[in-house]
Amino acid sequence: MKLNKSMQAFCLLLVMALLGAMFVPAVSAAEEKNSDLLLQNSSEAIFEIIGNTTDLKTQVDPESKSTDILENKYGKLNIPSTVLKYDIVQFSKADVKTDKTNSLKVSIYGKEYDLILEKMNFEDIDDGIDSYSGYVKGLDDSIALFTFDESMDKSLIYGSIQLKDEIIFIEPVQNREYTMKTVMPLHIVYSSKDMEQPDESLIDMNKQKIMNLPTKVSGDQMIASDSTKSWKSVYVLVATDNEFYGLGSNWVSAAQSYMAQAAYQYQRSDIGVSLYIAKYDSSKKDTLSSSSRKFTDPLGLFKDTFSPNYLDGKNADIAIYLGGNDRSGNDAGVQGSSWGYSCYDNPEHPEWHDYCRYAWSQMVADSNAIDIFYDGSYHARLYCIIHEIGHIFDANHEGTGVPNQAYTWFTPGLKTTVMYSMYLGSGITTWEYSSPSYHGNSDCNNAGAINAVKQNIAGLV
Ligand SMILES: [Zn+2]
Repeated sequence: MKLNKSMQAFCLLLVMALLGAMFVPAVSAAEEKNSDLLLQNSSEAIFEIIGNTTDLKTQVDPESKSTDILENKYGKLNIPSTVLKYDIVQFSKADVKTDKTNSLKVSIYGKEYDLILEKMNFEDIDDGIDSYSGYVKGLDDSIALFTFDESMDKSLIYGSIQLKDEIIFIEPVQNREYTMKTVMPLHIVYSSKDMEQPDESLIDMNKQKIMNLPTKVSGDQMIASDSTKSWKSVYVLVATDNEFYGLGSNWVSAAQSYMAQAAYQYQRSDIGVSLYIAKYDSSKKDTLSSSSRKFTDPLGLFKDTFSPNYLDGKNADIAIYLGGNDRSGNDAGVQGSSWGYSCYDNPEHPEWHDYCRYAWSQMVADSNAIDIFYDGSYHARLYCIIHEIGHIFDANHEGTGVPNQAYTWFTPGLKTTVMYSMYLGSGITTWEYSSPSYHGNSDCNNAGAINAVKQNIAGLV
């Protein structure tokens, strides 16, 4: 049957309306019964907001039939490849207020706690998406960051709860298309303890490398620690392409949950930077996605697509491209890049000045074998985003011989700060910058490096 254009549009609308009414694609009665049986639970999810959580299936093995059944019904689920066990839950809208300290009743491994949350102020875009930071009462040194998205008139929740030697992650797990069709979108809940970690040989290789690094800085270079320096505000434009736009439930709230963690690191007192969101920008997603440079030169493509003038117009000092493609070609194993602070006032290349404003970060798993741990999980994405923004602020890797070095330590297991040059999974890599005040010393002081240049970055626009 040939249809004219308006007829096609009408049919499409009708199909969409029908899908909307059904919420999930049809499955046969037999399959439905079968899947209901398989979706019965013997335990509760490791994290629940009491009264707002429905456990759909707990303790799922990603290789099991349950995952297939869920995917038949709810579309492809974004389960990071290193997650070995997870829970699938749905949330109704939680009663969280922006103007007060919230106390939510939650359960963690079946035990009841109060989750204390206060709104973060790194963005004030009135879009129904808000981020909160806080802690779990009774769990020492716990750090909880949550983003609640009710912009689609559904409840999407992103959370990370850092405990002593474990992180619990909560995030939407469907793609955008299926999220739209599902009244209560699915979320994945899992612990860093249920994630695959690097084997001994990869850890040994890194230990050896660390042993051979010159940890002491030569000469008398010191980062001037100027405690009188006041807080600076840096505005970030966050952009994406079609691939990342469609990959998750809502790329804006996902991006906001990452920027919440980044803002949390930058607001530490020895850094003193307020990271603000200038704009979540998907207006050029087609341009980014239609270029083959998205695979081979995403950073260059980003700068060419989002000119310095464009950033100025959006009042954005710096910009980060959350890319939905696995980099290929010569630098296939690279998951993020930025030109860094050295472009800010390079005497030989004054024309490089604006290059320092850009960063690209890969949001999907890296297929390169050595980087199997870069799985595109929340933890990995955050490492990459905070790492690349760090370069913009003159933070650098291990072994640079100047005081802006990354730091490594043992707990007794190996730990690295966020500027370490390789991602080693959720058990080893942290989201912190090196700092004498937490993990670092005067030779490994990325916090001091950021503090020293922050007013220049804040002054870019
Ligand atoms: Zn780097």
